[in-house]
Amino acid sequence: MPVIAVIGAQWGDEGKGKVVDLLAKKARVVVRFSGGDNAGHTVVNPYGEFRLQLVPSGIFYRETACIIGNGVVVNPAVLINEIDKLNQRGVDTSNLVISDRAHLIMPYHILLDGLEEESRGGKAIGTMRRGIGPAFADKVARYGIRAGDLLDKEAFLERLRLVLDYKNAILTKVYGVSPLSLDEVYSQYCQYGERLAAYIRETTIMLEEALNREEVVLLEGAQGTLLDPDFGTYPYTTSSSPLAGEGCLGAGLGPTRISRILGVFKAYCSRVGEGPMPTELKDETGDLIRERGHEYGTVSGRPRRCGWFDAIAARFSTRINGFTGAAITRLDILDTFPHLKICVGYKLDGRTIDYFPASVADLEKCQPIYEELPGWQAPTNHIRDYEQLPPQAQQYIVRLEELISCPVNLISVGSAREQTIMKTPIL
Ligand code: GDP
Repeated sequence: MPVIAVIGAQWGDEGKGKVVDLLAKKARVVVRFSGGDNAGHTVVNPYGEFRLQLVPSGIFYRETACIIGNGVVVNPAVLINEIDKLNQRGVDTSNLVISDRAHLIMPYHILLDGLEEESRGGKAIGTMRRGIGPAFADKVARYGIRAGDLLDKEAFLERLRLVLDYKNAILTKVYGVSPLSLDEVYSQYCQYGERLAAYIRETTIMLEEALNREEVVLLEGAQGTLLDPDFGTYPYTTSSSPLAGEGCLGAGLGPTRISRILGVFKAYCSRVGEGPMPTELKDETGDLIRERGHEYGTVSGRPRRCGWFDAIAARFSTRINGFTGAAITRLDILDTFPHLKICVGYKLDGRTIDYFPASVADLEKCQPIYEELPGWQAPTNHIRDYEQLPPQAQQYIVRLEELISCPVNLISVGSAREQTIMKTPIL
C-alpha cells in the first residue's frame, strides 16, 4: 500500500491541512516531517475549525497514528497548549507520537531569532520569531537538544549546561542582553518532559510495521516548495526543506517507499513575508483576491501578498518534487472574476525565460508574461462532480494541468471536507 506525500507546491498556505484531513480517512499513519510551529494547517470538519501548528492533520481519526517526525522542531509549550486545546474540544490525542529524534525549540532560540532579525535591519527575512531557524541551525551545528533527551533528566542537565554556556556567551557578548538561568530553563523543560513523556518514542519501527501491514501512510508537508532553503527564493526561505525528498528524511523512510507525491497548489498565488513573487498584484485585483480569499496568515495574521497563478514556478515545483498528481485548492475564490491570468513566462532584462531563476535579484526583475482565460462568474462551492463545473472552470483546470505538467487529482471548492471534487483517484 502506498506512502503518499502531500506537499505545498507554492509559498505555503495552499490548503495542505484540508487535503491531509481528507486523505487521512484512508490512512493509518500521518507524519509531519518538517518545519515547526510556524505551520498553521487549517482543518474544517465535523469537530469544528482547527488551526494545527505541530499536531498532524490526521488527529481527528482515532485509529490513525499521528507522528511528529524527527524532521520537525518542537516548541514543547506550543505543543502542550495545542494538545490541551484539542482535548478541550473533544479531540482525542492518545494517537499522537513525538519522534525521540525531533529537536526542541529552547528559550534561547526564540530570543536569538528576534535579535538576529533585528540586526538584519532593512534586510530582515520576515521570520515569525518563533525560534525555528535557530533551532534548525543548532541541529546542524550539533548544539541541538532532542525530545528524547527530556526522558533522561541527568543527561539532559549535562547537555543543557554545555549548550547554555555557549548560548549565554552569544546573548551577553554579541547582543549585550542578560543570560538565561540554567535552573529555570532546566526545571521548565523537565516539566515539559514529564507532560510529554508518554508521547515520545522511537518512530521508524512503527512506520516500518505500518508498511509491512500494507497500511496507507501520509507524509504531511509544511510551508511550500518555493520557501525551500536550496530551491526557494534564498535567503527569503524557511529553514527546513518542504520538498518531497525531505518527506523521507524527516519521517525516517527510504525514498523507494514513497509511491505518490501530491502537489497542493492554490488556483492563484499568495505569499507571506519578504522576498520576490513575480505575479504579485499590488492593485485592486490583488486586493480582491485577498478579501475574497481572506488571505491573512493563519498563525501570524499578516496580510498575504496575492497574485495570479505562476505556471513557471509551478512547473519548477513539479520538477524538483516529482509530483505524480496535483490538488488545486480555492478554485471558488476565482468565481467572480471576468478574466483570469496565468503566468507562462518571465521577461528578464529584455529576454523571455521559462525557468525560475536562482537569484532573488533576477526574480525581482522578472516581469510576468500572461495568458488570459475567460472567467466563469458562477459559484462553484456546491459542485462535487468535475463535469458540473462551468466549462470555463474546466478549461482553467485543463490549462493548469498542461502547464504544470502533472494530472489534477483533486479540486477544492471550499474549506469543508465535502467541498471537494475528485477528478481522478489518488489511491
Ligand atoms: P495550509 O497551511 O497549507 O494547510 O493552509 P492554511 O490553513 O494556511 O490556509 C488554507 C485556508 O484555506 C484555510 O483557511 C482553509 O480552511 C481554506 N481552504 C482550503 N481549501 C479551500 C478551498 O478550496 N476554498 C476555500 N475558500 N478555502 C479553502
